Amino acid sequence: MGNIQLRQVNKSFGATQVIPGIDLTINEGEFVVFVGPSGCGKSTLLRLIAGLEDTTSGTIEIDGRNVTGEAPAKRKLAMVFQSYALYPHMSVRKNIAFPLKMAKMDQSAIDKKVEDAARVLNLTNYLERRPGQLSGGQRQRVAIGRAIVREPSAFLFDEPLSNLDAALRGNMRLEISELHHQLKTTMIYVTHDQVEAMTMADKIVVLNAGNIEQVGSPMELYHKPDNVFVAGFIGSPKMNLVSGDIAKPYGAATIGVRPEHLGISKTEGTWSGIAGVTEHLGSDTFIHVKTDKAGVITVRAPGETDIRFDDKVYLTPDASRVHKFDDRGLAIR
Ligand code: ADP
Ligand code: MG
Repeated sequence: MGNIQLRQVNKSFGATQVIPGIDLTINEGEFVVFVGPSGCGKSTLLRLIAGLEDTTSGTIEIDGRNVTGEAPAKRKLAMVFQSYALYPHMSVRKNIAFPLKMAKMDQSAIDKKVEDAARVLNLTNYLERRPGQLSGGQRQRVAIGRAIVREPSAFLFDEPLSNLDAALRGNMRLEISELHHQLKTTMIYVTHDQVEAMTMADKIVVLNAGNIEQVGSPMELYHKPDNVFVAGFIGSPKMNLVSGDIAKPYGAATIGVRPEHLGISKTEGTWSGIAGVTEHLGSDTFIHVKTDKAGVITVRAPGETDIRFDDKVYLTPDASRVHKFDDRGLAIR
């Protein structure tokens, strides 16, 4: 259950092509994240899988069955959106029960399913409240509960945490990952936030202007980005990308070095420069160095660094961690 196969899926709105032809396999039980900048086609792709949009061409199969053109209700998928779309006048219990009521399930079976879902989501004590009496995180859990009771073959999440503040987002990230471990159901999760992608996914699909740039595990994308786009998108702070004469000694058009793969010293090193703004996070310090030849380079230094604004410094990239790209932006390996 929950195998999804896209073959040459193409979507245009009028004359505008949004998805130019995507092949993708999602395996049973996987947590797959679609990540990419705003407007790259993530929601469109999810809506095509859900059946909320029709494909322009290509096919979608779920568990070996061609569902292209089939109504959303027949696909046995459950979608959770950024806006929780709860019924404000109904209790949490009734909101979660709603799809089962619509399916005319008998009341005792409904009660059991709702109570099971509430237990998984820590909502047991809130079942008689209305959505207006809940926090944002609890409301999103109710929306997830409404999806769970349908026992879908896959869950589709479209930026479900975007309305929550940073601390709550961190909590909900853990809760959704925990839920995936418990249910072991296929989940497809859309976000523009690479931190969410890295922390939650078994498999990340990086999208850019409707194209798949790379598919891989978080650590594959971190260690072996296929191209400059993925290199710059995955990782925080961002990978430093340098083109021109500095890249040439490496036999590349562009090189990339992550902030955590650079040494910084006041006495010696490969690239000289002046320390600019230093961001103290406690555990780490991010130092933005204005180098003489490589532009501004961000370095991750220990929390207790003695480097200050305006100090003369030297940077040394870890040679084994330098990523090389050709003039088309593709990785040289
Ligand atoms: P994302 O979710 O990655 O931010 P979307 O999938 O929402 O991106 O949109 C991708 C592109 O498709 C955007 O350029 C958007 O304007 C366009 N688009 C989305 N839905 C429609 C629609 N119903 N009609 C016309 N253009 C659309
Ligand atoms: Mg979207």
